Amino acid sequence: MLVRYRAPEPWRERGVHLLRLLPGAEIRADADACALDVTVEERGGELHVSVAGRGRAERAVVAADKKEYLRCLFQMLSSIQGEPLSPWGVLTGVRPGKVAAMLIAAHGRREAEARLCREWLLSPEKARLLVAAVANGYPLLRTGGVSVYVSVPFCPSRCHYCSFASLPLERWRSNLPAYIRQAAWELQELLAACSRHGIAVNSIYVGGGTPTALPPDLLAQLLAPAARPGCEFTVEAGRPDTLTPEHLEVLERLGVTRISVNAQYPRDETLQAIGRQHSAGEFWAALALAQRSHINIINSDLIIGLPGQQPQEFAGVIADLAQRGVANITLHALALKRGAATRRQYMAAAAVQAIARAAYARLEELGYVPYYLYRQKNIASNLENVCFSRPGAFCYYNIASIAETEPVLGAGAGAISKLVRAGTIATLNNPRDPNQYMERSAALVRRKLEWLRDAVDKPGRAW
Ligand code: SF4
Repeated sequence: MLVRYRAPEPWRERGVHLLRLLPGAEIRADADACALDVTVEERGGELHVSVAGRGRAERAVVAADKKEYLRCLFQMLSSIQGEPLSPWGVLTGVRPGKVAAMLIAAHGRREAEARLCREWLLSPEKARLLVAAVANGYPLLRTGGVSVYVSVPFCPSRCHYCSFASLPLERWRSNLPAYIRQAAWELQELLAACSRHGIAVNSIYVGGGTPTALPPDLLAQLLAPAARPGCEFTVEAGRPDTLTPEHLEVLERLGVTRISVNAQYPRDETLQAIGRQHSAGEFWAALALAQRSHINIINSDLIIGLPGQQPQEFAGVIADLAQRGVANITLHALALKRGAATRRQYMAAAAVQAIARAAYARLEELGYVPYYLYRQKNIASNLENVCFSRPGAFCYYNIASIAETEPVLGAGAGAISKLVRAGTIATLNNPRDPNQYMERSAALVRRKLEWLRDAVDKPGRAW
């Protein structure tokens, strides 16, 4: 659908993401024949907004204020479309949890839900979910410490939908020992600096890629500096076919407390269609292996919106995971991101939302509660990513990294450090390419250590 959108800056930029929510919208500033014509003029502190299309025309005048403008545009587009543009209203381009946390702190849960519906135009269903996630997760946040992220950017092969830092392990195999030495050194330096400055490490998270794609001895070498950290320690075994008893022995020895074995969707036809290159049987076998280890908490990620999924079958997968003792279940919406081999959405938005509804309902019945939630750009069917857990099994790292209330120090190629201080966040990216990483990591480590020293020198550190 061709959309002509004429608006002076900054209003054009502020509103364009709402127009992108229209199915199949192609947005241009100039087009002779368009299906929808959106015009905004600014006159003396007011915005004159007109929307015409589908045999209807609407006009409105609002104050030249960002929130007023977005609400007005959202309502006009919803009215022309005949249904709400998105269940997330105008809560886009901001972290939903941060807005909800402020509202809960100021007004309490019930009023926060009401304001999310009234002021941000969320559907009551999404407002309830968001407030529940924040009310469950945020109270666990601590002050003054840091979390550490270790990136292992290798996988046995690349899934079609992947947009992560993932490199084919085989291609890097001969350089792996040198790379692991460098990444382990970086991790050692970061942890030693925390200990020198008396900064608590609240959590360590090892993600990727697939950390268990590394041979067990190299994984042990990489993570040796973090052994027995006395805090939450999570390792992803994203591709279940990589997990072996030897990996689990290494992880147990290191004191890992959580492991993530990801199903995405344990159905062979679906796995094949998304290029996962492992079977459903391999997932269930890896899960059984992880359960026999002494690692207490198991997470499993599922993606909503993959080919062949049905609400009842999806709810059945959740029941199976629950029955096998998976304490955390993270539901991701398929992200149609740049860099993925496919930007295709596999099914209609209504079908995806029906699966999400069935999944949330089954999780609730089984005693799981939501405790962190985030949204990405270009998320399929305007959904959310949300993690459910049994009480007592929440992942601190995930809550803290989404809330952005404490620094996250990153080690390894592709790791992003988030340097949080006094309400500001600076990011420092390690190069994704392992060779470039090895060349530049010494300088990057120096910058992180300087930042830590500087932060500690400031009085009253609470980030
Ligand atoms: S396992 Fe995850 S990180 Fe690796 S290729 Fe697949 S989606 Fe990407």
